[in-house]
Amino acid sequence: MTQPWPSLITSRARHVAVIGLGAAGLVAARELRREGHTVIAFEREKQVGGLWVYTDRVEHDSLSLIPGRTISHSSVYQSLRTNLPRECMGYSDFPFVIRPGDGESRDPRRYPDHREVMMYLQDFAREFEIEEMIRFETEVFRVEPATESDRKWRIESRNSRGVSGEEIFDAVVVCNGHFTEPRIADIPGIDSWPGKQIHSHNYRIPDPFKDQVVIVIGTQSSGNDISKDIATLAKQVHISSKAVASDSYVERNNLRIHPTYHFPFLETGGYVTVEDNRVGPLYKHVFPPGLAPGLSFIGLPFKGIQGFLFEIQSKWVASVLSGRVKLPSEDKMMEDVMAFYAKLEAMGIPKRYTHFLSDPRGNPMLWKFEPQDEVVVSQSDYFNWIAEQCGCPSIERWRERQYSVAVKNLIFGGDGYRDRWDDDQLIEEVYREFAKLTV
Ligand code: FAD
Repeated sequence: MTQPWPSLITSRARHVAVIGLGAAGLVAARELRREGHTVIAFEREKQVGGLWVYTDRVEHDSLSLIPGRTISHSSVYQSLRTNLPRECMGYSDFPFVIRPGDGESRDPRRYPDHREVMMYLQDFAREFEIEEMIRFETEVFRVEPATESDRKWRIESRNSRGVSGEEIFDAVVVCNGHFTEPRIADIPGIDSWPGKQIHSHNYRIPDPFKDQVVIVIGTQSSGNDISKDIATLAKQVHISSKAVASDSYVERNNLRIHPTYHFPFLETGGYVTVEDNRVGPLYKHVFPPGLAPGLSFIGLPFKGIQGFLFEIQSKWVASVLSGRVKLPSEDKMMEDVMAFYAKLEAMGIPKRYTHFLSDPRGNPMLWKFEPQDEVVVSQSDYFNWIAEQCGCPSIERWRERQYSVAVKNLIFGGDGYRDRWDDDQLIEEVYREFAKLTV
């Protein structure tokens, strides 16, 4: 059978491990194989899709604080619909659209439900034959340099039958997701409060809140959606936030879904650390200078156009591993990282926003950013920079425009923003672009 993807087969094909098969790991596996690498992808769950695989199961500890607890990976609640239009969420050559033969179980809405996103990711895996690279129900519990001299990596994993294995790889690409470990703010006096506390990571349906008085802390997307969901059954819902929507980016003493970086399997002798959600040191959010290119991270930047981000970072990693694209020296990369951190510090930006890719043109939340709307890294500049490195197309203009309109719609469009918009002309243009991909 001929492969449906173009393979670049290079002279420096590597043996690469991918950890996690959510939206980031799926495209990482595809790009690595396209570049000619051999890939083994480890996924703890039974299927691909990551956090989009909905489960009724929640964690026993409703705040998810107890170390060693049984983890429920998904943070998706039953009524969740996307907060971005489907067109700008897909990968560049596999649009997130309804295809002929998709059947009636699909959700054709522009802001579809979580199941539709999962089905899109599963379609992608099928189309590009990714599942053949995957070890399902296999958790990676240790990743460490194999030896000092050959810069290879040892991975220890365990499957659902409890069988452990140890393998050596040339490189490891970490795609384990960042929404499973809730970030809990320190609220003075909360311990003496007699009510039940639950983090939104463990919220699924409103039924347990029937006839209760509930306080929801935080007003970002999930806080808003969940409070409305609970209000369908609760006696009263109170929403607590010091932020108004348009300045909710600025740090508040709130509790909400927020990426929390956690790599319990990674052993780098203290080289890669996580400090207040800064994963570092990382060159351009991907490569730790002293361990590059053997170790890389896909998908750390948050609050942007995620699918495209995962895809372009993956292309960069794949092309660096094959030697087609060069990285600067370790010293130069480290210089760049330190200069970036110094800039964040000078601007008074907390470490936890290190991986926030901002976009003043597209993201009105940033207009409140101090001082004087200065940008640390705009997502467009970031995409353009990586595209230039690996000689691949950067983000499409239509996708940027659509994201920009969508974010404004999300913030200012009120309750029904998912079912009301005024960029029909742009949608038509986008579908004309999609049609070219299927010719
Ligand atoms: P995940 O989807 O979390 O996947 C990580 C995978 O790694 C999982 O399958 C997990 O099982 C696996 N894994 C973890 N550790 C191990 C291990 N040790 N061994 C083996 N496997 C492991 N983005 C949008 O673009 N639009 C939206 O509308 C949107 N809504 C969101 C709503 C919520 C509630 C949340 C939390 C996020 C939302 N996002 C949205 C952002 C979302 O995070 C990204 O779109 C994306 O799906 C994240 O993909 P990922 O692959 O990085 O992580």
